[in-house]
Amino acid sequence: MGWRIPVARPDIGPAEQEAVQQVVSSGWISQGPKVRELEAGFARLCDIPHAVATNTGTAALHVALLALGIGRDDEVITTPLSCIASANPILFQGARPVFADVERETYNLEPADVEKRVTARTKALLPVHLFGHPADMDPLIELARRRDLAVIEDASQATGARYKGRRVGAFGHVGCFSLYANKIITSAEGGMIVTADEALAQRMAAIRNFGQLPGQHFQHAYLGGNSKMSDLHAAIGCVQLGKIDRYIERRRQNVAELNAALASLEKLIERLPAEQPYARAAHFAYHMLFRTVRLRQRAEAALHAAGIETRPFFSLISEQPPYRALGYEPADTPVAADLAARGLYVSNSPDLTIEDKALIADTLRGVARAEGLA
Ligand SMILES: *Cc1c(COP(=O)(O)O)cnc(C)c1O
Repeated sequence: MGWRIPVARPDIGPAEQEAVQQVVSSGWISQGPKVRELEAGFARLCDIPHAVATNTGTAALHVALLALGIGRDDEVITTPLSCIASANPILFQGARPVFADVERETYNLEPADVEKRVTARTKALLPVHLFGHPADMDPLIELARRRDLAVIEDASQATGARYKGRRVGAFGHVGCFSLYANKIITSAEGGMIVTADEALAQRMAAIRNFGQLPGQHFQHAYLGGNSKMSDLHAAIGCVQLGKIDRYIERRRQNVAELNAALASLEKLIERLPAEQPYARAAHFAYHMLFRTVRLRQRAEAALHAAGIETRPFFSLISEQPPYRALGYEPADTPVAADLAARGLYVSNSPDLTIEDKALIADTLRGVARAEGLA
């Protein structure tokens, strides 16, 4: 707390408050009609038949892996440059995350490098749409078809983003989303899974509820925990879902304005948020790749001094102690390691003001001047 510009600021107002109040008044607060309404809304958003709500994005990924039967000795190829939650559920299943390297341009899985890491044990690909920019899905889907692999999209930072015109999440066998407070839309905590496969949807709906099939009390067809969303959370999510296109539009506007203000600082910042021709990004954060690690540190210090909170481009998942203990080597994905060392992001909240954006740009211009790079 205390940041003038925190990295995320959820937009929660009277409409969300009213929606929660109505659920409280109804007397039904656990999974019920509001969860069903949010699921229907997500299915409509992604133009896909089925959606299954969960209590977190992490649980969405875990339920998807359980439903796809991914377990001991199976390998799942994913990115090391992400929130650790995109890989941990693979380990929860006793399966092995295999980290492929990422593209310099999008920070997402490099399809050619993914292909090199496919083995006889590979069961699935788990691309992440980092910072709300879609991964290049066509070559990944084509590879998955050829090698008979499942595709699980982690669209946690990319709700509403489009790849070749269609919303992400609808490309793989399953698409997973997070509705945590800092995401594109929120339900405080929450997750969602979408799929076109009806049998898989039913299995996931059962798995989130102790593996129990609907209407069959204490008959547990599958192994499942409790990953259910409450109607209190879903009520917030429903209000937020109604605002998603406005939120994304404002995020895109922020990026356009900040990119214009920072375009002349190419000696300080190597890459600003950009879009591939196939992408319409949701722009989860305003991310910058600095020329050197030292310049990133300078920028970080100056931004903090101005009251602007920052985050690095995550830490490589493979570098975290639970992964190190299993023998993972960050050197195995050199592009991801380089990006993690030089990247920094600040807020791209839909409610960033003109003054907020001016402060971010002025602070970075000050760094460039101080370094003789302006
Ligand atoms: C936030 C996030 C998750 C986890 O979602 P939670 O709802 O916080 O459990 C997973 N993957 C990515 C890429 C995320 O950004």
